[in-house]
Amino acid sequence: MRKKIVAGNWKMNNTLEEGKKLTSEVINIVADELTDDVQVILGTPAIHLDSVGKLLKDAPKVALSAQNCSEHAAGAYTGEISAKMLTSVGAEYVILGHSERREYFNESNEQLAKKVDIALENGLTPIFCCGEALEIREAGTQNEYVCQQLTESLFHLSEEDFKKIVIAYEPIWAIGTGKTASAAQAQEMHAAIRAHLTSKYGAAAEETSILYGGSCKPSNANEIFAGKDVDGGLIGGASLAARDFVEIAKSF
Ligand code: PEP
Repeated sequence: MRKKIVAGNWKMNNTLEEGKKLTSEVINIVADELTDDVQVILGTPAIHLDSVGKLLKDAPKVALSAQNCSEHAAGAYTGEISAKMLTSVGAEYVILGHSERREYFNESNEQLAKKVDIALENGLTPIFCCGEALEIREAGTQNEYVCQQLTESLFHLSEEDFKKIVIAYEPIWAIGTGKTASAAQAQEMHAAIRAHLTSKYGAAAEETSILYGGSCKPSNANEIFAGKDVDGGLIGGASLAARDFVEIAKSF
């Protein structure tokens, strides 16, 4: 059965103290209220990972994620953080290819293929983001665009490695804008993604968790998660408030 996942992406928010407080709040609410079949993940800024990871040690239902990693193993890459460093502080997941990284840091599909490889080599599960900008949606070519992102960054993987990947579909026009894709639009794209993955990996794609991201909140999560190919969410803004975030995780 596919894993249900709700992952928070804090982006560049929260001081260390604020991040620790938010983590403790999430841990407590999850322990009291969430069923065991949902995996909650906190995607914290890199500098918080070690401290948040320590808090999560006794919270088996909540896992730790980084928001990026270098495509290089080690060396003279000032300011970068390697996949190996991330696992050394307890990260289990890494968000790769978020549209903000693609837009502001020019991350290409080719570069992301390398990041996916090095993440897997170091035992991290990539949460691989894909999604189209508004112009592409308006031109009606969103399926082709998203499928090309997947082909160019993931289709070199062996079936064994592919099985470790989590996908997050995030229409860029819905991120942080308050404009959510309708439940029908989300399901339609998730089905197209799964069909494309199936064309390469066959039955293994049935087991891939595909998350939706883009202005997901407690008020719309239930409708979006009802889509048969929607296996959870990647949550930005609403992951900064423990109650909202866990309410989303309770929305299956
Ligand atoms: C995101 O950036 O991954 C995201 C989904 O943001 P938001 O929920 O704020 O739209």
